[in-house]
Amino acid sequence: MITDTQKAELKAKLEGEKKLLEEELARLGTRNPSNPNDWVAAKPEGEEFGADRTDNAGLIEEMHSNNASMNELEGRYNNVVRALGKFDTNTYGECEISKSDIEVERLYANPAARTCKAHMGDEHTLG
Ligand SMILES: [Zn+2]
Repeated sequence: MITDTQKAELKAKLEGEKKLLEEELARLGTRNPSNPNDWVAAKPEGEEFGADRTDNAGLIEEMHSNNASMNELEGRYNNVVRALGKFDTNTYGECEISKSDIEVERLYANPAARTCKAHMGDEHTLG
């Protein structure tokens, strides 16, 4: 069982991480106006599609690689947001599979952890 002090500390860590991820996402792309949880990769600054096929291919490649980093960041971001939401429902620190307490040291290593150690790696069975 984690104490209120530990909870406050972990919440502050999550909020800090959320801010960093938002900055990173804003650097690489823009928020989807119709879905604030979705981010889309921006076209590299100052570059336009033109008549040169080779240039266009390079531009598309760059956008794809930005997209890959964005998908990874987006995954981490959504995890952090999900973890922060648990403070509102008072379920923070609870394993989403067994509902038992997540080990304190696991939370300090990963404040957005969704499961206890026994169910580590089973996150994919969750929605
Ligand atoms: Zn568990």
